[in-house]
Order: sequence, then C-alpha cells, then structure tokens
Amino acid sequence: ERLAARPHVILLASPGAGHLIPLAELARRLVELHGFAATIVTFTNFSAPELLACLPASVATVALPAVQMDDLPKNGGVLVELTRRSLPNIRALVRSISNSTSTAPLAALVADFMCSTALPIAAELGVPGYLFVPSNLAHVALTRYVIEINEGVAPGEYRDLAVPLELPGGVSLRHADLPDGYRSKHEGYVQTVEWSRCHCLGDGVLVNTFYEMEPATVEAFKQLAVPEQGSGAFFFPPVFPVGPSVRRPDRHEPTAGEFSPCLEWLDRQPAGSVVYVAFGSRGALSVEQTAELAAGLETSGQRFLWVVRMPSTAGGDDPLAWLPEGFLARTSGRGLAVAAWAPQVRVLAHPATAAFVSHCGWNSTLESVGCGVPMLAWPLYAEQRMNALLLEQNLGMALRVPPSREDGRCLVTRHEIAKAVKELMEGDQKVRRRAEDLQKAAARAWLPEGPSRRALEEVAVKWKAALGTAK
Ligand code: UDP
Repeated sequence: ERLAARPHVILLASPGAGHLIPLAELARRLVELHGFAATIVTFTNFSAPELLACLPASVATVALPAVQMDDLPKNGGVLVELTRRSLPNIRALVRSISNSTSTAPLAALVADFMCSTALPIAAELGVPGYLFVPSNLAHVALTRYVIEINEGVAPGEYRDLAVPLELPGGVSLRHADLPDGYRSKHEGYVQTVEWSRCHCLGDGVLVNTFYEMEPATVEAFKQLAVPEQGSGAFFFPPVFPVGPSVRRPDRHEPTAGEFSPCLEWLDRQPAGSVVYVAFGSRGALSVEQTAELAAGLETSGQRFLWVVRMPSTAGGDDPLAWLPEGFLARTSGRGLAVAAWAPQVRVLAHPATAAFVSHCGWNSTLESVGCGVPMLAWPLYAEQRMNALLLEQNLGMALRVPPSREDGRCLVTRHEIAKAVKELMEGDQKVRRRAEDLQKAAARAWLPEGPSRRALEEVAVKWKAALGTAK
C-alpha cells in the first residue's frame, strides 16, 4: 500500500522532550495501527535536534520557520506565545500539506495542548481538530473546572478557585498542589484561563493516560454530557484516554552509543539494586539542594545512577563540577553521576534499576509505570505536585519527599532523602507491588481489546467517517 494513498493526519508538536516524544508515539500508532499517514510539524525555536533525529521512521516531519522570540518575559506562557507568533506559518504549512497532490486527503489536525490556538485552522479546512494533552486527565479536569468557574465572568474579575479543590474522580487538591498558573493570585492566572478556554475549540481531547491510572476520573468524564457544539450549553470536547504514549526502549536515540556508559554501568550492577535519579528535561535544583541530594544518596548506602543537571543558581556548563568535594571518589563503584541526559527509558527498563527519584513529569511517570518501577516523588514545577499527589495518595506507587515546610524552607535535607530512598528500597514493598500492577495494566491498555486501543480506534473511525462526508 502506498503511504501517499492513506488519509493524512498532521500533528503539531510543541518543542521539548515532554511534548514531542509522546506525540510522536501517538503518530506512530496512527500509522501502524490505523492506516493513516502522519506528518509531525515541529518548531525551530527551542527545538532539540537530537530529539528530532530519533522520531519514528514511519512518520514524516517538517519544521516551521523560526520566529522572533527574544523579547519575551521569562514567566511562562512561552510555548503558547510561540504558537501565536507562528500561526501564519502554521496555517500556510498545514494548507500546503493538505493541498499537496502527493498526499491523500487530510483527515485531522492534532495539536499539542500548548498549540491550541492553532485549532481554528482545522475548522477552516473542514477537518476535525483534536488536542493532545501530554499530561493526565486530572489536569484536563482542572482545566475544565477553571473554564467553568470563569464562564461568563468579565476579564479581571476571575473568581478564586475554592480549596481544597475536589476534582471529579476523587482528586483533592490543596492550594499547594495547584500548578502555579492555576493559583488565582499568580501573575499567569489570566493567561491560564485564556489558554484553558482554547480547549473548547477542539472536537476532542486525546489524553496521555490510561484507565487504571485514573479510573475514577475517567468514569467521571464518562458521566459528563457533551452538548452539541454551538448549542449554547457549556461545551467541553469529549476526552479520549489513549496512553501510555511513551518511547519504547528499542526506539531510543540512534546516538545512544554516546550514553552507553549508563547502560554499561548498569550491566555491572546486581539486579534490582539501583536507584535512578533524574528530574526531566528542565528540572533544576539549587546549588544547596544539589549538595544535599548528593549527601543523601551517599548516606543512603544504596547504588545510584544520577542524571545531574546544572543547578538553577549556578553558572558554567559542567553540572558535575557542583557536586560536593570528594563525592564522586567516595561513591565510585556504587554510584554513577552523568551530566545532563541519560537514555531514560532504557535505564528504567534495565533489570538493575529498582526505584526512580523523579520530578514526576508525566512522561517520566508513565515511563516508570511502563517498567514497573516505584518512585520517590520530588515535584518541582508545572503540574508535578498534582502528579505526585496522584501517585502517592490515589495510586500508592510512590513515596514522597517531604514537601516544603511550614517555616517556608524548601530544602529537602540529606537525612530526609536518605531515609526515603532506603524506605523505598528496603521498606514495605507495597509501593513496588502497586507499580508492578500498573505496569501490567499499562500493557493491557494496548492489547487489541484494551481501553486505550479502543479509544484511539473510536477516534480513528470518527476521522475516517468525517472524510467520507467532507465538503
Ligand atoms: N529524558 C531522557 N533523559 C533524561 C531526562 C529526560 O530521556 O536524562 C526524557 C524522559 O524519558 C521523558 C522526557 O525526557 O520522556 C521528559 O518528560 P517529562 O514529562 O518527564 O518531564 P519534562 O522534561 O517535560 O518536565
């Protein structure tokens, strides 16, 4: 079958590993399971070439031209603004792909949730426009709630979120668990509301989660009626849990050789003995906290593989230079510290790896689940505090480092770290069993009759049916 004859899906990826990797995996499934051709549209601004180099071979990619982004305030909203500034380029590119004679008709446009302002382009072309949320359904519930409480309220008069906030599905958020921009006093709140509203421009929302990860929230969404668009009733598009959408260990960077020290080192460690420590693509600790973590790992007596990132408060480009004096020598043999980046999925899938100290980015979380590895939750930014809560309280697959204290000090001490790491490795193995249960559920989600597979099938059928009726 010629790929060119297949109905085409265009997927608009926001820059960054946490957005691009799961969207690429979704694209691969649309091609390999549902007979579409797929093109991922990427941004040139903030893009990491090494990520683009390892996208699935069955998916085409095309990059948007760079736009001027030097004049932005530092406090968030950058990805949303990047989409806004790129809109003319996105429109031109999507139209040109859609008009191209070498490709079959456009079946749908899927936009990462940071690119939701591009959804009207789908409507202009008369094709379904879907959002892809690389986070969980609790995040979508929170977003929906923000729109609801602000519906009809004039700008500048946004009402406070009541806390604790009881989201449908039994997720209860204290003020401290809210993502920054969702706190009504936060400078980004007005933008959060505006951005949240854009979800309603979609015909559907594909969410990188699966049933057992958030069963009550999935059920709660099933109970919500979705009125006709334009009927006047509050409209929020239907949600489809189509995760976990994570990179597979065999699909890692072609440049993995560069990282093989991690894997070679793991090969030499006993099975189930290593604590993997990593804070995603952006997570940075302070200089003081980096030193405390080093001391905590050292005191724990456990084997560890630590991806050290540049401390937030430091200059230079060698993160290992910020480790305490003599730390590497004292822990050599039982610990490995690498700068900046590790082939994470392969590390988590390695038999030596037994636990994950993580910032709880949703991709990292799903990767840990996919490998049955319990976590020590150390949330840093975005919706990670909410994720940590879900993992610890609702799912029981994580312990949590003590959250910031009453006295306002945020430093997690070496003793707290050592105690938590030891507890995770040597204590009650309930959290490990929960992680293993979820691993099995994640695998079942993608079996032929699995819930995520069926949800994506339902969407694919809708898109193909719409093709038949397209004007
Ligand atoms: N990642 C990796 N190596 C690293 C750090 C991160 O491969 O050393 C990958 C990780 O596997 C995940 C993504 O980068 O797929 C990070 O996404 P996540 O949502 O966990 O966090 P974010 O970086 O978006 O905060």
